[in-house]
Amino acid sequence: MHLPIIGVTTARVPGTNGQTDLYAAALSYLNAVANAGGVPLLLPASLSPDALMAAFERLDGLLFTGGGDIDPSLFDGPPHERVYGIEPERDRSEIALVRRAAETGLPFLGICRGIQVINVALGGGLYTHIEDQLAGARKHDFFPGYPRDRLSHPVSIEPGSRLAGILGGESFEVNSLHHQGLGRIAPGLAVSAHAPDGLVEAVELPGHPFGLGVQWHPEWLQAHAPQRALFKALVEASQKVYE
Ligand code: MN
Repeated sequence: MHLPIIGVTTARVPGTNGQTDLYAAALSYLNAVANAGGVPLLLPASLSPDALMAAFERLDGLLFTGGGDIDPSLFDGPPHERVYGIEPERDRSEIALVRRAAETGLPFLGICRGIQVINVALGGGLYTHIEDQLAGARKHDFFPGYPRDRLSHPVSIEPGSRLAGILGGESFEVNSLHHQGLGRIAPGLAVSAHAPDGLVEAVELPGHPFGLGVQWHPEWLQAHAPQRALFKALVEASQKVYE
């Protein structure tokens, strides 16, 4: 069986002992992809636009990982004092990858920051701090200081969506480690899950072979079969490139 190569986006981490900064992705993502039968391949955000597209051509699928916030100026978002961790190179490279994957039909999954990047890249906007901008919002920022696998709120899945088919149900408890969330939904995206306060927790790209984003962290819920199925679905869609 062909082992699909899944490009994994990375975060910039300070180097120590005089070393340069590092580009890294948490093992939780890499293990979830590997356990689903894919080969995770790290994509440094420092690549030039041409080099990034050369890498893209060799991928079978893409995983957009969690991380710091997207620069609000990229979606006309209101500035907020809690916005943190902006990485201009990462914003630029991930937005280019989303747009290219949407155009070409390359399978992709976005997690947390990843669903936000998908929405921004395709023309949507974000709440730059949910609790100050969404009336009636529940707590979604169970970080830091909480276990990453803490089940913090339910999500209701849109019946008939691709996500409902993958997870095999319409209501699940999920973790929640985000202070931003999807506001204006990009044209072309369909909402496939909500939190009880109405916040969008999943989107998908109808008509695309596999374009999906979730606001929770399934890589930390691998004890739950439906969340493993999400990674399996990405890998299976990525294998279809070769059928
Ligand atoms: Mn949440």
